[in-house]
Amino acid sequence: MDLNTYILIWVCVFGLCLGSFYNVVILRSLSNESIIFPPSKCPKCGNRLKPWHNIPVLSYIFLRGKCHFCKEKISIQYPIIELLTMVLFGFSYLKFGISYTTLFVIFWISCLLIMTVTDIKEKLVDCNLAIAMAIGGVVFAGISAGRHGVLLSVLGLIAGALIMELIARAGFVIAKTRAMGEADTYVAGALGAIFGIFSIVKVLLISLFASMIFVVPVFLYNKYKANDKPTCIMAILFTLSAVVYYAKWQNYWTLGILAITGLLLAYFIMKGIKTEENRNYLPYVPALAVSALYYIFFVI
Ligand SMILES: [Zn+2]
Repeated sequence: MDLNTYILIWVCVFGLCLGSFYNVVILRSLSNESIIFPPSKCPKCGNRLKPWHNIPVLSYIFLRGKCHFCKEKISIQYPIIELLTMVLFGFSYLKFGISYTTLFVIFWISCLLIMTVTDIKEKLVDCNLAIAMAIGGVVFAGISAGRHGVLLSVLGLIAGALIMELIARAGFVIAKTRAMGEADTYVAGALGAIFGIFSIVKVLLISLFASMIFVVPVFLYNKYKANDKPTCIMAILFTLSAVVYYAKWQNYWTLGILAITGLLLAYFIMKGIKTEENRNYLPYVPALAVSALYYIFFVI
């Protein structure tokens, strides 16, 4: 086996173990428990897990997805996050090799992963992670491009946070509340610090597309379950006009219809945010994370 493969395997094992740790971080940041203490236990029956119940992915398979003691189902979230961390760490090593860039990328990806899951699950995001990412971004810019890099990074931070905050506050115009949570502003600022002033607008644009693909469908599914007919009908009309425009007829009429249905859909989504409970914004951290991953692996 050549050295490269050997290191790759160890990077993947490292990813599996850290992924397992991130599961604990996610679980305990949602329940406000200490990360180091107490030792892992089953959330249902409270029995302490034995060391061999804690092996990433393998334990889940051996235990057939059930608690050893009470047979309560273990969430599929655990092995998924472990495997996802492994894959992302592996790709980071393949792309950036043995370098300090890999270490920074692994750190940023880890923060994004944790924030994405807590945002999807509970719409709670630990902004300290975004701040740590931003500091990492500025330091990285300083190491790789000197004072010049730090300047572009800090400007990127300001621009990212500012643009996101403006979008979030646009919600006040229609819904008299923010369209997105404060955490999205922190994360956008962090991405600005990482990618710099010249790239942050592109990163945020990609996140808009990502939200169309990943976030909005989930949001609309919830609308459908809540029996919010106008929003669902608008979503269908918008999708239809987008298909018609891109697949066949591209003229001013179809473009106009696309724009009108798009704006109406945005209006209904914004209006829907108002009627819901607090903290029920569009979860936007997942879209930002997808965009950041795309930018890390395919653009830079
Ligand atoms: Zn149990």
